Amino acid sequence: MNGRGTIHSAVAAFEIPSVIKLSHMVRRPRPRIALSKREILRRDDYTCQYCGRKMRTLTLDHVVPRRLGGPHTWDNLVAACSACNRRKGGHRPAEADMLLHRAPFEPSPTAAYRFGSHLEQRQEWAQYIEGW
Ligand SMILES: [Zn+2]
Repeated sequence: MNGRGTIHSAVAAFEIPSVIKLSHMVRRPRPRIALSKREILRRDDYTCQYCGRKMRTLTLDHVVPRRLGGPHTWDNLVAACSACNRRKGGHRPAEADMLLHRAPFEPSPTAAYRFGSHLEQRQEWAQYIEGW
């Protein structure tokens, strides 16, 4: 399978491979998904966790507000549209009479989660990604 472009040595050019086979297993600790707004929106499938609307421009909401000691962590952050974020204000969801669609969680860093978004352009990877 060919990747994009070529690698040049002094005298030759090689297609960049899309898949390489290692001759022995390289064990390394599973990385955690870095906490960021981009990853929260991706985990929540770009869907407001209060009203269920799907959109590209979303805000981050601290489920338990920071002023009440809510941490900046995977299990206290959700995607929220700006209307829901304004409505909720600095309150807990129940205080604002709002319900979460799904309890927030830290995504497990499976290959399917980490590389799934690349598979549209890299179909040849699918056979190597467990759970795809
Ligand atoms: Zn909303």
